[in-house]
Amino acid sequence: MENDRQAEGGEILDVLSLSYEEWEKLALETWKEPKFRAAQVCQWIYAKKVFDSRDMTNLSKALRERLACEAPLKLPIQAGERKSKDGTRKFLWQFEDGARVESVLLDHGTHTTACVSSQVGCPLACAFCATGQMGYTRDLTAGEITGQFLLMEKRLGRDVNNIVYMGMGEPLLNRAGVFASVRALSHPKMRGLGARHITISTSGVAPGIKDLADFEVPVRLSVSLHAPNDAIRNKLMPVNRRYPLSALVDALRYYKKRTEERITIEYVLIDGVNDDPQLAFEMAALLDGLGIYVNVIPCNPAGGAETLRRSPDARVRAFCAALSELSIEFEIRREKGADIFAACGQLAAKRGASL
Ligand code: SAH
Ligand code: SF4
Repeated sequence: MENDRQAEGGEILDVLSLSYEEWEKLALETWKEPKFRAAQVCQWIYAKKVFDSRDMTNLSKALRERLACEAPLKLPIQAGERKSKDGTRKFLWQFEDGARVESVLLDHGTHTTACVSSQVGCPLACAFCATGQMGYTRDLTAGEITGQFLLMEKRLGRDVNNIVYMGMGEPLLNRAGVFASVRALSHPKMRGLGARHITISTSGVAPGIKDLADFEVPVRLSVSLHAPNDAIRNKLMPVNRRYPLSALVDALRYYKKRTEERITIEYVLIDGVNDDPQLAFEMAALLDGLGIYVNVIPCNPAGGAETLRRSPDARVRAFCAALSELSIEFEIRREKGADIFAACGQLAAKRGASL
C-alpha cells in the first residue's frame, strides 16, 4: 500500500484519503496505539471539523505532535467564495500544485447539498458544458474530494445533508478517488453520511456504472442522458462514441438488477436540438422497465457554442407534457446560483482566475 510505504519512509501521509480500516492499521502498527485511537482521530476530523492535531485534546501530546509531523491534513486553500441571491454559495479551492476547482453549496431551506468536483477540468468535452471546454488536467485524490465537503461543512457551521458528485469532472473516470471518498464520508465512524444522501452523476461511462453497481456503498446514480438516440447524443457528448446508448442502457439494466434503486435521468433542454416532445417518447422506449425519474434542466449559458440555447418555456412545457403522458415522474430543476455562474455546467475554475 502506497500510504504504508510513505509512513515507513517518514514522508507525509495523505490521511484524508484513508479508509477506516487503514486508519486502524495506522493506529495499531505505526503508532503502536490501541485501535480506538483511529475512532478518536476520525471524530475530530469528520465530526468536529478540527483539522489541526494539536487541538485534538484527548490524544497524548506525543501522538498529537507525531500526527502533526507525519500526517497533517492536506486541505486546499480557499481562493474565493461568492454568494448568490438565492443563497447558493460557490467556493474556489487551490491545491498544492496550483490546480483549482470549484464546489457549490446549495441551500434548500430544510436541507443543504454540497456539489463537489472530482477532476480538474474534464476530458469529455460535452458541447454545452463550461468544464468540458477547459480541458482536463488531472484527477483529484479522495482526500481532495472529501476536503471540499469538510471545508464547506465547517464554513457553514452545521451539517451538510447531501453530497452530489456533480461539480467539475466525470466521477466515473476517477473511480479510485471517488469511491474512496464515498467510503470515508459514509463510514459510521468517519462522517457517517447515509448512502441515500450521496449521488454520483455520470455522462454515461458504462464500465464505471457496472463498477458502481458492484460497489459496497449503495449510493444513488444520476445519468446525464440529454438525448435518446446516438445521432443527437454523438453531437452533444463525445463520450457517446466510446460508449453508445446500447452500452449505456446495458450497464443501467445491470445496475438496476443489482441495486433495485431508482435511476435519475438528467436531461438538459437545448432549443431545437433535443427538445422535441417526440424524443420523450423515444427515451421512454429506450429506458423501458428501468423506472426512471427525470430532472428536466433548461440549459444554462456556459459560454459555449452560440447555437446551444436554452429551450423557451413553451418547449419546456411541451416536453414535460409528453413525460406526463408517458407517466414518467419528473421535475424541472430550478436553476440555482446562475447569477454567480454556479449553476449546472457553469463551473470552470481556471488557473490564475478568480471567482
Ligand atoms: N460529468 C458528470 C457530472 C458533472 S456535470 C456528468 O456529466 O454527469 C453535472 C451536470 O450538469 C450534468 O448533468 C451535466 O450534463 C449538466 N450540465 C452541463 N452543462 C450544462 C448546462 N450548460 N446547463 C445545464 N446543465 C448542464
Ligand atoms: Fe464533463 Fe459532465 Fe461537463 Fe460533460 S457535462 S464535459 S462529462 S463535466
